[in-house]
Amino acid sequence: MFGVQTPKKKSRSLLRLLVLLLALVASVVAWAFLVRPGMEQVAEHRYVEPAGDAAAPTLRAAWFGTTGVLLSDGQHAIMVDPFFTRPPGFLNLLTNQKIAPDEALIRRWLERAGVQKLDAVLVSHSHYDHAMDAGVVARLTGATLAGSASTAFIGRGSGLPIAQLRVVKVGAPMQFGRFTVTFIRSQHAGATGGTPVGDIDAPLAPPARYMDYKQGGTYSILVEHPLGNVLLHGSAGFVPGALAGRKADVVFLGIAIRRDMESYLRETVDTVGATRVIPTHWDDFTLPLDEPLQPMPVGVRLAGFFDEMARLRPEVKVETLEAGRSVVLFRGKRPG
Ligand SMILES: [Zn+2]
Repeated sequence: MFGVQTPKKKSRSLLRLLVLLLALVASVVAWAFLVRPGMEQVAEHRYVEPAGDAAAPTLRAAWFGTTGVLLSDGQHAIMVDPFFTRPPGFLNLLTNQKIAPDEALIRRWLERAGVQKLDAVLVSHSHYDHAMDAGVVARLTGATLAGSASTAFIGRGSGLPIAQLRVVKVGAPMQFGRFTVTFIRSQHAGATGGTPVGDIDAPLAPPARYMDYKQGGTYSILVEHPLGNVLLHGSAGFVPGALAGRKADVVFLGIAIRRDMESYLRETVDTVGATRVIPTHWDDFTLPLDEPLQPMPVGVRLAGFFDEMARLRPEVKVETLEAGRSVVLFRGKRPG
């Protein structure tokens, strides 16, 4: 009987194989959603503020999940990719439901962050998890909204006056107080080039669908300040050589759907000469910001990121921030 299979037996063993495979896939997915490895490493790399003279000037940073970062020097403040609403549910995303900024929630978070006024809201690209709340945040804080033409249409859809919109020119510095901001051409991460691609070409008034928030081009944002320079690189792609000649001390590095880590680090962290990296875009943004963050179960490999950094760039310090908590990023010298 060896080696002889009747069609019935054959289909039965195929079925068995299929069931086994499905069980394997299901357990991998369940493992990813339930275990979500990486939080131990996040805790181990928790940022420690530099000691020093409390009377010295500081540049403070606060991270709000995804790539949302607030930078403030006490006189002026700017915010990159503010995203508080975080519409819940993977299934809603997969089925392209309608979403809208939650203005009450945004107000609560701004208040909690001590933000009344912002000089600028800067947007790296127009996907919903970077740009959906940006117009509302700019409207509530009197900020200039700076980004692509697509981002400007999101601003207009949020009721932002045209005078508060600025479509950026690549490489052209903009001044906000002592912050000098330059948008640099970049590339969205992922094999598809960052779905949904294309531009938003009319005011986008919410509620709108997830896929209405088209990318509109992707930028890396360089923020120069007398106390220190910060590169905010939200999406894990790059344009080779685009950052040549730029200098930054710290990189807020988006690590979602990254591919070859060696070339990614070479084109971002190495090129600007940064000695510190703060990983962003690793949290599951379908979960609310006021609950403990969890890594995105797919497309991030958070634990792997820390291993890769230790192996590829042991000399670069990896630091993690607690969501919503303001820290001193740079400390200057006491005046006089
Ligand atoms: Zn994106």
